[in-house]
Amino acid sequence: MKQDPFEIVLKQLEKAKKIIDLDQYCDSILSHPKSIIEVHIPFHLDDDSVRVCKGYRCLYNDARGPAKGGVRYHPDVTREEVIALAAWMTWKCAVVDVPFGGGKGGIVCNPKELSQHELERLTRGFIDLIAPVIGPGRDIPAPDVYTNPQVMSWIVDEYSKIKGEIVPAVVTGKPLELWGSQGRGAATGQGVVYTIIEALEYLGMDIKNATCAIQGYGNAGSTTAKLLYDLGAKIVAVSDSKGAIYEEEGFNPYEVEKFKQKTGSVVGCPRQGKIMDKISNEELLELKCDILVPAALEEVITKDNAHKIRAKIVAEAANGPTTPEADEVLYKNNVFLIPDILANAGGVVVSYFEWMQNLHAHYLDEETINERLKQKMVKAFKEVLGYSNKYKVHMRTAAYVLALERVVKAIKLRGWD
Ligand code: NAD
Repeated sequence: MKQDPFEIVLKQLEKAKKIIDLDQYCDSILSHPKSIIEVHIPFHLDDDSVRVCKGYRCLYNDARGPAKGGVRYHPDVTREEVIALAAWMTWKCAVVDVPFGGGKGGIVCNPKELSQHELERLTRGFIDLIAPVIGPGRDIPAPDVYTNPQVMSWIVDEYSKIKGEIVPAVVTGKPLELWGSQGRGAATGQGVVYTIIEALEYLGMDIKNATCAIQGYGNAGSTTAKLLYDLGAKIVAVSDSKGAIYEEEGFNPYEVEKFKQKTGSVVGCPRQGKIMDKISNEELLELKCDILVPAALEEVITKDNAHKIRAKIVAEAANGPTTPEADEVLYKNNVFLIPDILANAGGVVVSYFEWMQNLHAHYLDEETINERLKQKMVKAFKEVLGYSNKYKVHMRTAAYVLALERVVKAIKLRGWD
């Protein structure tokens, strides 16, 4: 049975509170979402029947700036999950020092069962209902699991219709042709890889031939796999919701991507004329490898399997893949963890660049974006590592301490306490 993800947030917060002295007022602000709205979205299916889906948008905290966070379309979306994801966005934006607070949204639906037209109607219906609580200076959505640049295009279009003017900065992760940013598509994976490079250097390891297993082969997972491969790492396993593939000798993730585009899954992908071994998502996590990248959903490394993790580095591309109990086991076993609120922050960093470009109507080239992303990620990594060594705590608690200090400072400066 999965834990309530918001309880996980609170447990993580608790560990950081042992180091940072939070007064009771700040503590109560940071232990609760500022607001969450629940909406019911009626929309027409292609056969003209009507369906109603539940949706949420949570603004966890906006002390440091407008809320920022993705919108997830998944059958398992819950209110608690959305709140937890919004809280993690708050800490993440503070860790990489972008001027945003944290938000998140979700719709309880199975997008795989909906046509493009149905998805469009559902998305527009959602925006009609949450328009009063989003906006470039208030709360700015972005892609998350099973949402993509096309969904972001419908969001910007619908919101602009409601406002009677074009408002590109209401959402990030838009296509390049529609006020998107260079580098946004690959930003999350790129950021993950920058932090992995730093971790390897710190641990005295080489990326060449480092063995990597990656769970989840969507935006975050596949980009991470391809970039690691480009740097000479050996990708030995990847997976999606249908299962995992494994090849000890390593394989080319670009080929796997082509195969998944054609067939809908990584499972069954051939290498040198032979279908690669199929293993389960659980087995993938327990493979002996240098780098493990969970890049799918929450709570996959738990107290039940943490002691079986044999990777030297776990880089959390996904949000919330490791439970607090598992954190302790990994730490004791000397597994170097790059926590989600640091590892996967590249997406929100380039989202910040996109928002800035939209507000200034001035667009930057890919090289500039990537250079600025690298600077942000490397600086944040070094700051978190510094705190980890200073306070003798694992990287997640160190990242929380850094984030809390920054958020609390903003709360105090604004005079909320
Ligand atoms: P995506 O929709 O592009 O891909 C999700 C992938 O996970 C797919 O390959 C899917 O098959 C796989 N998957 C789904 N259920 C699974 C299961 N039970 N076991 C194994 N694999 C499963 O989503 P994404 O944007 O890549 O997001 C993945 C994770 O990264 C999420 O935790 C998300 O919050 C996080 N994240 C994404 C971004 C971003 O910019 N896209 C930024 C930060 C964090």
